[in-house]
Amino acid sequence: MRIVLIGPPGAGKGTQSARLAEQLHIPQLSTGDMLREAARLGTDTGLRAATYMKAGKLVPDEMVCGMLVERIEEPDCAHGCILDGFPRTEPQAEMLDEYLVDRGMDPPVAIEIAVEEAELMKRLASRGRSDDDEAVIRHRLRQYEALTRPLLDYYRGRGVLHSVDGHGAPDEIFLRITEAVEAFTGS
Ligand code: ADP
Repeated sequence: MRIVLIGPPGAGKGTQSARLAEQLHIPQLSTGDMLREAARLGTDTGLRAATYMKAGKLVPDEMVCGMLVERIEEPDCAHGCILDGFPRTEPQAEMLDEYLVDRGMDPPVAIEIAVEEAELMKRLASRGRSDDDEAVIRHRLRQYEALTRPLLDYYRGRGVLHSVDGHGAPDEIFLRITEAVEAFTGS
């Protein structure tokens, strides 16, 4: 099973993805982590990506898609994975669908973690990462609204979207997410 977690920056995708991956015994694929690691190592892709990330912009689709495909082909992803931060644009979602369909795999299921903007600002401001200063945060939230939010309709239209309330304690949110996953798997 391939599960896509969708939510604005600060929604808790990273934390919840890690827990879900552990529970389901499948890997967590975080494109944000992959890009930060590539930047740290100073690879071509990493250095190019870093300029976008610092500005709060999305990294171009072809760079992220190439990286994601390379990772999803690893044997540990054979039985599924949690996609954390991918897809973030409609072309990325289309690429993923095509990739899976071409290999006879089921399309992904999508879970939205919904959080209000005021709460996001509060959480992000206290996180203190280099791409977390206020102007950059605002830009990232705008990018989410413009480029990523449309994915909710994309997946809703395919009947594979489940939205959960992302306010509250991490444990409560995790419970909502596992219930949503169970609703899909029927277990
Ligand atoms: P957050 O969930 O806080 O936005 P991430 O670690 O998921 O943080 O992503 C950090 C940055 O990495 C994003 O702001 C963006 O620049 C880049 N990035 C990550 N995933 C993608 C993606 N799928 N497409 C484009 N850019 C991405």
